[in-house]
Amino acid sequence: MSADDSQTCHNCEYLWTADHIARLAQAESDATEAYGTGGSEVYDGLRRRVFVVEAENFDDGITLYSYEEFWIDEDGEFGVSYNASCRRCGFDFKFKTTEQIDFPQDGTKLAADEE
Ligand SMILES: [Zn+2]
Repeated sequence: MSADDSQTCHNCEYLWTADHIARLAQAESDATEAYGTGGSEVYDGLRRRVFVVEAENFDDGITLYSYEEFWIDEDGEFGVSYNASCRRCGFDFKFKTTEQIDFPQDGTKLAADEE
């Protein structure tokens, strides 16, 4: 049995935030340098660019895809595995564990159907 799920990749969010800070600093620097030198239209355009960059938000569509699976084999081994990976930044994590369980294999009824 398995299930797929997804969530925001925090590594991508971190990378995006660092890039956003750098782009915002560059936009502010460009506007400051243009002040008084390129005419009011150039300066106003660069100031608008600062507002556009400021308003950008991290796209939560950048997702961390996860995959989980569990099984019980005929020898009574219970296993579970999880895999989470990001297609954008390449983050990949796998977790798998197994445990032997006392699992009757002779048709023993373990619980009554009575209400
Ligand atoms: Zn990522």
